[in-house]
Amino acid sequence: MGYVITLQPVPTLPVSGTADLFPVNRIFCVGRNYADHAREMGHDPEREPPFFFLKPGQALLPEGRDFPYPSASHDVHYEFELVAAIGRGGTDIRVEDALNYIYGYAVGLDMTRRDLQLQAQKMARPWDAGKAFDLSAPCSAVAAASKIGHPKKGPIWLERNGKRVQSSDLSTLIWNVPEIIAQLSKLFSLTPGDLVFTGTPAGVGPVQRGDILHGFIEGVGELTVRVV
Ligand code: MN
Repeated sequence: MGYVITLQPVPTLPVSGTADLFPVNRIFCVGRNYADHAREMGHDPEREPPFFFLKPGQALLPEGRDFPYPSASHDVHYEFELVAAIGRGGTDIRVEDALNYIYGYAVGLDMTRRDLQLQAQKMARPWDAGKAFDLSAPCSAVAAASKIGHPKKGPIWLERNGKRVQSSDLSTLIWNVPEIIAQLSKLFSLTPGDLVFTGTPAGVGPVQRGDILHGFIEGVGELTVRVV
């Protein structure tokens, strides 16, 4: 027996320093997880529990490929983020066990059609067209936690055309990675291959065709993406 339509390939990321691949399932994203970014978006960072949205795994844009400016938007923003790569499935994971479920880490961009996201927000409609569009998740290679450990602090920054536009420290995450995994696993059964984009610091802004985005997280990795 065969498939009656074309079977879509499993999206993958390279694993740093190896010839191996990390197969990607879903892409979970945390909203407003740095206080400075929550404030710049007009929200109170102190009182909000973490909330989540999804991009399909097929939205992944592995490193080395260009980001095509998407249709239907005139205000596409970068959001540079630490990404946790889930290696073990589970539900109701305890905060103190959460790191055991992580295979490794990457750095990624939660590309956003800000105009469509804000319009949806205003009309109390879903964010999908603003967040989950094709190739909206550029991502670096995955670095195994067995090699780099579990990053808890250190600089995170993004440069647009050589100018530093986002700059913060992982220690200023409102909800840290174990807390995110614990919360997320109450809502979804996590599976190996899920990625979790952990939120962006302040300084989000628009991109134009021709831009070069270069992001770096100390001890994790870096990512360069050209907007075309
Ligand atoms: Mn984001």
